[in-house]
Amino acid sequence: MDHFHYRDGTLFAEGVALCDIAAAVGTPVYVYSTATLVRHFRVFDEALSGLPHLVCYAMKANGNLAVVRTLAGLGAGVDVVSAGEYLKARAAGVAGDRIVFSGVGKTREEMRIALSGGIRQFNVESEAELRALSEVASGLGTSAPVALRVNPDVDARTHDKISTGRKEDKFGIPLARARAVYAEAAALPGIAVVGVDMHIGSQLTDLAPFEAAYGRLAELVPLLRADGHAIGRLDLGGGLGIPYAASNAPPPLPAEYGAMVARTLGHLGCEIEVEPGRLIVGNAGVLLARVIYVKEGEGRRFLILDAAMNDLVRPAMYGAHHDIVPVDAPAAGAAAAPFDVVGPVCESSDTFARGRMLPDLAEGALVAFRSAGAYGAAMASEYNARPLVPEVLVRDDHFAVIRARPTFDDLIGRDTLPPWL
Ligand SMILES: *Cc1c(COP(=O)(O)O)cnc(C)c1O
Repeated sequence: MDHFHYRDGTLFAEGVALCDIAAAVGTPVYVYSTATLVRHFRVFDEALSGLPHLVCYAMKANGNLAVVRTLAGLGAGVDVVSAGEYLKARAAGVAGDRIVFSGVGKTREEMRIALSGGIRQFNVESEAELRALSEVASGLGTSAPVALRVNPDVDARTHDKISTGRKEDKFGIPLARARAVYAEAAALPGIAVVGVDMHIGSQLTDLAPFEAAYGRLAELVPLLRADGHAIGRLDLGGGLGIPYAASNAPPPLPAEYGAMVARTLGHLGCEIEVEPGRLIVGNAGVLLARVIYVKEGEGRRFLILDAAMNDLVRPAMYGAHHDIVPVDAPAAGAAAAPFDVVGPVCESSDTFARGRMLPDLAEGALVAFRSAGAYGAAMASEYNARPLVPEVLVRDDHFAVIRARPTFDDLIGRDTLPPWL
């Protein structure tokens, strides 16, 4: 459920008409709804209320300071994957002991920054990383709280590029080697083992792969405890999917996920950590764009927008579907026709949708890409020297720009000329 709806024939985010935001800020622009963020966080948090737990929002899905601070204010911790995200989370007001550091290639410098600033836990993915972390922590006269990311060899049955829990994927430590690596961790001076971590992929629309993976975790924990490790936390990763198209089967409800977690892992007496990203922010955002031209092609009609693949890369990168809706509701019974919806960038992958049924849209019309709050602005670039897409946060009947569109001078000023030119 979200808070984008038509009122008097035009699309609103909560109490703000999207056309007013377009007029004030220009397009393309991302618009997020506070009420939707709050609702999604609360529903997920409540789904785990039967267990001691911490929801660590995976800020790579949307790292805007205002989004992170909104969620932190509700009690969220944060999952980060770089020093930049760590420092942004701190700048958003998140305490170090509520930040989990994930990622397959943390550098020593990143470890130093997080250890010095305060950290809840590192999710470590290899022996090499374990040794590096021990060295860095020892050098700082401290020890690093660690959960080892195990790879359960489960196929998440999601898009290949966002599937991370199969043995051929680059992530985690194979289950068969987990006990040996835990033994090594326990012997290292700068490491304090606190738990076990896994993350099997993103946009999962079925509970079965989660349940299979968590079942393997439930078998591993007693073995690790018998080996003498203090396993007090289980980090289950993120990955629960969201509905992108009304026609798709709905993904499992957070309550069903929570019940499954309690059933498979509740008896272990661990604190549960989860790292949802998409589930919290995905349907809390839209990308607002304007039609530049309607072009009649050879048997096709192209809707050329002022948004492009650099602003929203998911369709080009993952073949992802986003519902595209007109901001001004079409008249009841208005005919729809197929459009290829494209951006202005000079490559054919700059195509958002082919043959999408849409009402007649004229030059200047506004459209909204639904479900664009996750991995939208976060993955945007300035390809084609298109200034980075701005972001707006709505709360009730007002809105604020939470990342301004750079000026052309900003964009040009980012480059520097060497002395010989
Ligand atoms: C990407 C990622 C997440 C978040 O995934 P979502 O599908 O957005 O919930 C959580 N944890 C880790 C380790 C990740 O890499």
